[in-house]
Order: sequence, then C-alpha cells, then structure tokens
Amino acid sequence: MQLLTRESNGCVEKVKFLIERKLVSYREFSRLVYAGRQAIGKPTLMNRMQLRMASGVCAAAILDGILPRHCILCGLASGEENLCPPCAAELPRTGHGCAKCGLPLRLSTDRICGACLVVTPPWDDAIGALLYHFPVDQLVCRFKFGRNLACGQVLARELATAVNEKCEETPDCIVPVPLHRTRLFLRTFNQAELLARQLGKNLAIPVRDNILYRVRRTRAQSGLDAADRRKNMKGAFRCRRIAAVSPAFEHVAVIDDVMTTGVTLAECTRTLQRAGALRVSAWVAARAPAP
Ligand SMILES: [Zn+2]
Ligand SMILES: [Zn+2]
Repeated sequence: MQLLTRESNGCVEKVKFLIERKLVSYREFSRLVYAGRQAIGKPTLMNRMQLRMASGVCAAAILDGILPRHCILCGLASGEENLCPPCAAELPRTGHGCAKCGLPLRLSTDRICGACLVVTPPWDDAIGALLYHFPVDQLVCRFKFGRNLACGQVLARELATAVNEKCEETPDCIVPVPLHRTRLFLRTFNQAELLARQLGKNLAIPVRDNILYRVRRTRAQSGLDAADRRKNMKGAFRCRRIAAVSPAFEHVAVIDDVMTTGVTLAECTRTLQRAGALRVSAWVAARAPAP
C-alpha cells in the first residue's frame, strides 16, 4: 500500500492488474488514470494535488475491491454499505429543523426558531442533516483530517436524504465553500467540494466550483467568539459577477461540512448576493449549536 500511495505509475499498474481479476471497475480505473495523467503531464501545484488525490482514491478503490466492507463506526460486517444498519439507524439526525438555521425545533408546527426571528441569517433557507454530536464529529474529523472518503460518502448521503425530505425549491447549482489555496495545498483536498460533488451526483444538480473564491487566508474559527469570527471572515471571499457566468443561474445552494455559528456561510451568502444571486440556500452535513 505504501508503494501505491507513493507513486502514480505503480498505482495504475496495480489497478490494471486488479481490473483483470475484476476487483476494480474499468470506469473507476479510467477516471483515476485520467486524473493521474493530468497530474503527470503538467507539474503545476494544482496537478500535484490532483496526483496526490488520485493516488489516495486509487488505494481506496483497491481496498474496496479486495476487502469486504466493514462498518466505519463499529467495525462489524456491513455488506455493501459503509455503515451497518444499527449504526445507520442511530445517527443523530436533526429531524424537524428551523427553516432558517437548520437547528431542531421542539414543536412540529413551528417553522423558524426564536433566535432566527431575532437575528435573521442572510441566506433564504438552511438544511442541516445531522447533529454535530458523537459519532458525527468523528465522521467529520476522519473525513476532513484523515481523508477517509467512506466517512465523506456517509455525510453526503445523509445530506442528500435531508435535502430530498426538506428542500422546497431545487437550486440551479451547488457551490462548495472554498478553501484558501494555501490550506488546499496543505490538506490536499477541499472537504466541502467533495461533499458537493457527491451530493450533485446523488441529486443531479450541477456543481460550480469556479464561482466563489477565498481570497484571504483566515484563522481557524474554533476558539474565537462570535464577534471575532465575523471579523476573521470579513472580506474573505470573492465571487464572479453572476450575470457574466454561463450557464446563468439564480438560486444557489452553498455547501459546507459543519455549520456552528454560521459566520462562514453568512459571508459566502453575502458575497454571492452582492454578485447577483437571487436566492441562496445553506446546506450542511452537520449542524452544531453555537458555542
Ligand atoms: Zn456499525
Ligand atoms: Zn433558526
């Protein structure tokens, strides 16, 4: 496995060998080879990152083909799925949530929570699939910092289910919250973008990752109070003028892995609105109550 993640050519050869024995699908292999060739052809910063990702995904695809699946939470056999049925059933879902912030509401007749009536978030509506409690915090952490794609797939699928249940108006496109290029280089992938891609595939909504950019490197939001979080995020994003973007769109869903105070998503929303978006939805895999 060391060899596979170290060098793309070796990795591709190994996948070829596995295809012959029907352990990896040809479609998956072609996609990875394309990503690998792109990376080898032009040794730019972006392509080197693609190469690292392609090697990682290759290794994951090989493991998927060779080993039977086990639940990523309890380790018991889970058939075709990443989670066994009991672990999947016990995930802390938000259920009936506030239409503005996604936090759970006590009364099924309520639509918006008290906090959102006092201070209304800038986006038009929000959906949070899971509560950021154990084991969702573990899934997010393993996905984001351990590059565990199976954890990302679980989060994306939960978000797709929540969107199917709660979304009143399908957006024209999905936009992931961007990472600054320095952080992207260090982490090698943007977790919001991977979620957005998986979600776009599940819901058949186009993903636009070339509209919104992070132009300023910000400090980590954890450990900052609400005022400092706002100051930290101010002016962090830029957006292309939406009237000049083709194909045109009006309603956009911004995707992130976790929403805590919502300051990052609020800054993205305001940036998109200033650029001409008529409606912005905030969709997150996990919703944490504000600290
Ligand atoms: Zn389990
Ligand atoms: Zn609310």
